[in-house]
Amino acid sequence: MSVTTRGALPGGAYDVTVIGAGVVGSAIARELARLPLRIALLDASDDVGDGTSKANTAILHTGFDAVPGSLESRLVRDGSRRLAAYAAENGIPVEPLGALLVAWDGEQHAALPSLAAKAGRNGYHDARIVTAEEVRSREPHLGPGVLGALDVPGESVICPWTTTLAYATQAVRAGVDLHLNCRVDAVTSGDPHLLATGRGPLRTRHLVNAAGLYADEIDRLLGHDDFTVTPRRGQLVVFDALARDLVRHILLPVPGALGKGVLVAPTVHGKVMLGPTAEDLDDKTATGSTAEGLALLREKGRRILPALLDEEVTAVYAGLRAATGSEDYAIRAHPAQRYVTVGGIRSTGLTASMAIAAHVVDLLAEGGLPTSGAEDLEPLRMPNLGEAFPRPYRDAELIASDPEYGRIVCHCERVTRGEIRDALASTVPPGSLDGLRRRTRARAGRCQGFHCGAEVRALLESKARP
Ligand SMILES: Cc1cc2nc3c(=O)[nH]c(=O)nc-3n(C[C@H](O)[C@H](O)[C@H](O)COP(=O)(O)OP(=O)(O)OC[C@H]3O[C@@H](n4cnc5c(N)ncnc54)[C@H](O)[C@@H]3O)c2cc1C
Repeated sequence: MSVTTRGALPGGAYDVTVIGAGVVGSAIARELARLPLRIALLDASDDVGDGTSKANTAILHTGFDAVPGSLESRLVRDGSRRLAAYAAENGIPVEPLGALLVAWDGEQHAALPSLAAKAGRNGYHDARIVTAEEVRSREPHLGPGVLGALDVPGESVICPWTTTLAYATQAVRAGVDLHLNCRVDAVTSGDPHLLATGRGPLRTRHLVNAAGLYADEIDRLLGHDDFTVTPRRGQLVVFDALARDLVRHILLPVPGALGKGVLVAPTVHGKVMLGPTAEDLDDKTATGSTAEGLALLREKGRRILPALLDEEVTAVYAGLRAATGSEDYAIRAHPAQRYVTVGGIRSTGLTASMAIAAHVVDLLAEGGLPTSGAEDLEPLRMPNLGEAFPRPYRDAELIASDPEYGRIVCHCERVTRGEIRDALASTVPPGSLDGLRRRTRARAGRCQGFHCGAEVRALLESKARP
């Protein structure tokens, strides 16, 4: 088991290499890890899940509103079931809150029956239309003008950071080599393929491209020009934990011509999220927020939940969806080339990740990858980041056995020295303060590290990664 962050890459050919350690690439590496093969997972960044996978709305979708009959519909439905079970087994926080698609005008209200019918065509039969009175009693803080809603009880919120980390951890423990700071710059297609990376050459018989926003560019290196990724920015605002009591469900908009629209949802970390925007850009690095984007979110949020806008803002961030102009994933197999492209995983990749992984392994088998001898992986127990579940600082027995769990470092998020110590010593340790935040919540609270930043940094630096 190994994680490398610098130096030359190992020699000899890997059986399979996955480019991109986002939630999708990590899920694929984990699925492959069940096979007796030599596998590499590469990422240009210094951490797993550092691209789109760290910045989304973190909803474990049912797939009720997908395009019926699409690959995305099938994989979201399957992925949702798989991830819910995986999360329960491995300690990934999930809150099954259910969603309400709230209708605010006659047009939206009239659209609810066709949305319920669409859910049925997507194999989801629990959606039902509810009256304005029922919506009000279930969500007393909603703004005026609610006409009714579609109740979708199967929607949940999940921790996106823990999900990617769990996949990567399990893959590495099962023998996958994770190479970070390892950008693939060129590919000479052959048997084996030769990858030119920032850390030298790497050879591999089979190749999976899970490079997210850059999947089209990797595809062109292998001679394919099937799709172009247009980054679609989603800006989000996170409100402080004091706002959490204002909302009980995921409040989805009724989708219109401009896409899914702006939602209000609790997070598993105990806060409330408002967003995202949907802006098509040219720049694949434009994850900044804009005054216009935030003003739009405030306007939409005030209509949905007026009191939310009076609460303190903890964080503002943006993620980029990998839009391709198609209403479906761009997953393509090139069996003769022993190559699979996993492109266009736009706004549902977190939910679908485990189903995408199983599908990709089937596609690799078509290209000759031996897939017999699969074994179950050792289950994990991920550190709990969920506010609705027991956290170490409240566990008297745990603190009695190890006082480090009683020493709070980050007071906003109540993160202890014991949790930071564990994260630094974990299978896939963080390489930066942001990576440490995604593993522990340290510095993710209302003071954004003003109080604990220096101590957290000192702890990280005391355990700098090789
Ligand atoms: C605003 C927003 C809201 C969303 N909400 C949800 C939601 O509620 N539920 C849901 O299920 N999904 C949601 N999504 C979608 C989900 O986040 C994505 O589908 C998913 O994160 C995509 O994962 P990925 O692994 O394909 O891409 P990424 O996470 O971007 O991973 C790709 C990785 O490839 C690496 N890479 C790129 N090029 C190279 C190279 N040349 N060499 C080496 N490495 C490379 C990158 O560093 C990156 O880490 C949302 C997305 C956004 C932006």
